[in-house]
Amino acid sequence: MLSIVHVQGFSFHNSDSLSWAFCDSSKPGRHVPPNSQSWVLRSTTEYASKVIDSMGPRKPSADALAKVAEELFREFQATGLNIPQPIFMKAHRWGGAFPAISIGGDDKCVWEKNMKLAICGDFCASPSVEGAVLSGMRGASKILGCLNLPSGL
Ligand SMILES: Cc1cc2nc3c(=O)[nH]c(=O)nc-3n(C[C@H](O)[C@H](O)[C@H](O)COP(=O)(O)OP(=O)(O)OC[C@H]3O[C@@H](n4cnc5c(N)ncnc54)[C@H](O)[C@@H]3O)c2cc1C
Repeated sequence: MLSIVHVQGFSFHNSDSLSWAFCDSSKPGRHVPPNSQSWVLRSTTEYASKVIDSMGPRKPSADALAKVAEELFREFQATGLNIPQPIFMKAHRWGGAFPAISIGGDDKCVWEKNMKLAICGDFCASPSVEGAVLSGMRGASKILGCLNLPSGL
């Protein structure tokens, strides 16, 4: 996307279609041409459900994805931030990152005590870096809890 939007992310609270917009190119190690930005828009669960209801679980056609990209982009532009027309835009279905239930429950990870095995990831907690980190920390504390460490460690 050409031009610069002077924030790094939004959460949308009153949108039927958008839940998040993050400036991917503001993250460390991401390279884009000068005076350009790369943004990731994430739909609401309700919007995604409507799309899936209308076309089923099969891989969406290129036309259907182009329509989704256009609708989400129009909603992004409705923020009134003078967002220019993108030079590249593509919609895709994220899939596994949005489990119907977070399988980790209150533990935020899957803990097999007998095997001393912790399974962690965003799918155990919530679909974000925060969810993944919390899950990893919970898994680590489960493992630490069953190690016989000398006091002070
Ligand atoms: C384009 C994009 C932008 C995003 N932006 C944001 C954002 O701005 N903020 C936010 O909070 N979240 C964002 N997310 C979501 C966030 O990236 C994920 O929630 C988070 O990375 C999940 O971390 P994880 O460790 O659970 O899984 P992952 O990061 O997916 O890590 C899983 C790892 O396991 C490896 N792996 C998979 N299968 C195997 C195998 N069989 N053997 C060995 N290794 C394997 C993979 O290669 C990968 O390295 C974004 C996601 C995408 C795709």
